[in-house]
Amino acid sequence: MSNQRTLSIIKPDGVKKNVVGQIISRFEGAGLKVVAAKMMTLDEGLAGSFYEVHKERPFYADLVNYMTSGPVFVSVLEGVDAVKQNRDLMGATDPKEAAAGTIRADFADSIEANAVHGSDSEENAAKEVSFFFPEL
Ligand code: AMP
Repeated sequence: MSNQRTLSIIKPDGVKKNVVGQIISRFEGAGLKVVAAKMMTLDEGLAGSFYEVHKERPFYADLVNYMTSGPVFVSVLEGVDAVKQNRDLMGATDPKEAAAGTIRADFADSIEANAVHGSDSEENAAKEVSFFFPEL
């Protein structure tokens, strides 16, 4: 068990539903601390390079389109095993498969508009944190 940082994004559907506070409360309730945060609207360049890894996937263009469709709430969460804790709180990518009580089960609309993003490894967390918060 180690203290870690991870990147969280509350996606456009989560912001539109006005559940930013409810989602952050879940992080805080699990012992994760918000150590940096900003609300922003991604442009095509930023969303495209953030999801560069999915460039060849059939859903890439739609994903970039969706991620630029409205403001997102980007934050850095810190705590013990923050990467895994955040993933556990989020639930499976597809809300239909997400366990009851997870953020996606409760707030997501679809596999694409799935309320939240969370880094999937410690290595990617470091990259994603510096992508959005180079000053940290
Ligand atoms: P990930 O890097 O695993 O977070 O995946 C990036 C995002 O792409 C997911 O959170 C979804 O918003 C979207 N996504 C993943 N798989 C699909 C899919 N099969 N169809 C549409 N969108 C998807």
